[in-house]
Amino acid sequence: MVINFAAGPAKLPEEVLKEVQANLLNCNGSGISVMEMSHRSSNYGKIQETAINDLRELLNVPSNYKILLMQGGGTGQFAAVALNLIGITGSADYVITGSWSSKAAKEAAQYGKVNAVIPKLAKYTTVPRQSTWQLDPKASYVYYCDNETVEGVEFDFIPEVPEGVPLVADMSSNFLSRPFDVSKFGVIFAGAQKNIGPAGTTVIIVREDLIGKHLKTTPSILNFELMDKNSSLLNTPPTFGIYVMGLVFKWIKTNGGIAGMEKQSAAKSKLIYDIIDQSEGFFYCPVDTNVRSRMNVPFRIGSAAGDDALEKEFLAKAEAEGMIQLKGHRSVGGIRASLYNAVTLAETQKLANLMLAFYKNNKN
Ligand code: PMP
Repeated sequence: MVINFAAGPAKLPEEVLKEVQANLLNCNGSGISVMEMSHRSSNYGKIQETAINDLRELLNVPSNYKILLMQGGGTGQFAAVALNLIGITGSADYVITGSWSSKAAKEAAQYGKVNAVIPKLAKYTTVPRQSTWQLDPKASYVYYCDNETVEGVEFDFIPEVPEGVPLVADMSSNFLSRPFDVSKFGVIFAGAQKNIGPAGTTVIIVREDLIGKHLKTTPSILNFELMDKNSSLLNTPPTFGIYVMGLVFKWIKTNGGIAGMEKQSAAKSKLIYDIIDQSEGFFYCPVDTNVRSRMNVPFRIGSAAGDDALEKEFLAKAEAEGMIQLKGHRSVGGIRASLYNAVTLAETQKLANLMLAFYKNNKN
């Protein structure tokens, strides 16, 4: 048996994959697969509409918010957010707490003025408290990344923004893992390939009044207004990915909804962080306790800097037991266990058991 701890593309629920398999050659009685179906057909139309409605229900998305399905991934949205919003005042505030928000800020700087809300961090292991931020009341929007996938830093609060300034969040790697109040945001986006489906689809939730403020040069496929007017069918959407994502939404609904996902995420991440904290420094997680990610748990073995040989040995042992894709991101090294919604508590327990055994065998 293989247990997939990948950071993304990542594990999908087994029940969903089995359903995809069973329906692959004959999707909903059509006699063809979803991949061969016109995106203009009523059969496909129902698939997309149901997915969007289920997402609206899962997150209690208010009626003055649109849900758009686009392509281009998280990186596409780094540009899209700026192209669609930065023209409001010409500048935007970015809270840079890790690799992904840093990349988003660089992309946005091509289209307008980007202000850094906090001084550059020496290490991405913390989220400076909001009282230290410098927010511009004239910014087009305030941007942050709710969960930094590479460094394992997850916000423990929703930022407060100046009156009238919309809040934009990249939730690519913790989307649908905890409930949140959509009405606090102007835009939320998430690439699908971590918590909600195959790579290729990006979900955007945007407040209606923010649609139509794009720069004139915005490419059509990144244009929120055009996408909205065309019900996310401006051009051929990633139909297979949207179909699978819809099945994942159904799976979440039958597994306790977002509250159920939150409960599981808390239990799974606690298992791993407890072992790290009780290992007297043998395992080391550099991230401040209050912002440790429930989705991506990064840690070193042997010392804070990591002992290369021990980490290699650990990865090999994990692999021998079927636990794969545990290597840390190439920019930070070490180990990273990603515990997205589809990873079960029992699977996480297996990793916990391996960590405990490895600690006992190798301490001192
Ligand atoms: N934001 C976050 C938080 C991510 O983790 C990633 C991808 N790992 C991205 C953005 C970029 O997404 P994509 O590869 O879909 O462009």
